[in-house]
Amino acid sequence: MSSNLSSDSQRLIEWSIAIQQIAAPTGAEAARAAWVAAALRDLGYAVEMDDLHNVYACRAGEQRAPALVVSAHTDTVFPAAVDLSVRRDERHHRIFGPGLGDNSLGVAALIWLADVLRAQPAPPVDIWFVANVGEEGNGDLRGMRAAFDRLTATESGAVGAAIVIEGMGLSRIVHQALASRRFRIHVTAPGGHSWSDFGAASAVHLLVQLAADITQLRPPKNPRTTFNIGVIEGGTSVNTIAQHAALELDLRSEEPAALESIVQQVQAIISRYQTVRWQQAGVTVTSAVIGDRPGGAIAADHPLVEAAIASLRGLHIKPQMSMRISSTDANIPLSRSIPAVCIGVTEGGNAHRTDEWIATQPIENGLRHLLGMTQWAAQWLGKASPSHLSA
Ligand SMILES: [Zn+2]
Repeated sequence: MSSNLSSDSQRLIEWSIAIQQIAAPTGAEAARAAWVAAALRDLGYAVEMDDLHNVYACRAGEQRAPALVVSAHTDTVFPAAVDLSVRRDERHHRIFGPGLGDNSLGVAALIWLADVLRAQPAPPVDIWFVANVGEEGNGDLRGMRAAFDRLTATESGAVGAAIVIEGMGLSRIVHQALASRRFRIHVTAPGGHSWSDFGAASAVHLLVQLAADITQLRPPKNPRTTFNIGVIEGGTSVNTIAQHAALELDLRSEEPAALESIVQQVQAIISRYQTVRWQQAGVTVTSAVIGDRPGGAIAADHPLVEAAIASLRGLHIKPQMSMRISSTDANIPLSRSIPAVCIGVTEGGNAHRTDEWIATQPIENGLRHLLGMTQWAAQWLGKASPSHLSA
């Protein structure tokens, strides 16, 4: 097999670029999904697509359940207008292109895996290939949520484990889901003319006070818990007392309890501006959840994690164990007590930037890692008793 793998990695790069050339901002993945569906159909798979444009194909196993899900997200952070030109740096064995590593390469690897497994004897259990939408930005993992709702609602029912593919981060094994909650806080006030109505409540003045209160929060370092006001907007002109203002807040924690705690602290701050006094001044403060990524984890000594570590070591790649917690599509299975890991295909850099790049040389090993992990997990599920499987 190793003799083919370098030509496989060439083919993989060509597929990755073909995928990368199709714009797929979160929420507009249809064209890219159609390409993936056609590629899987060409390999002989019966392919299905749901309303969100998640693409599904199944390599039937000796037994249907507990099934293994292998997934890669199709969406990117780049708006449709971004120039998707690719540039090769042969000398440093790199290819530059927005979204190439995150996650066109991951999607191409998923198709490659489906191709390799089709030619092999039936695996011990069903293996579902899912090219899912909605991982980035405000996608809120909706593709993965829908995929797991669908796959666990089938007749055979049980999904036993999941492997999530990311194009970059080959040396990483993510097995802890970083939980996050995102809010949009919106303030309205009577407003008016900056001179003649001076003294009337201002939505901007109130929002910046509220925002300042949030910046005074001191979340724990351990478990690491963070906040960020990433967007703030409001008002209409410099000489108008603002009638509207809003901010967007991102809260994250390694532990669900710590996340709940900082959410409650933020809500306590908001409620200070919802008192009768403020109501009488004509002020309303509302908050809406705009993102909710559930947490969850499997232990560092879980068999799936140990298998991933052994797989990397077998390829002489040192696992980067400090990078085991992240917000990925694996949040969904992990939050539902389904063991899951997120693994990479190669190394790269500048993700979410237009000068994003991937290294071409590690891809061969990345494919070995992916295939090895998939085969290991299918074997493990084939042998597993239900108690085995809990995360
Ligand atoms: Zn990604």
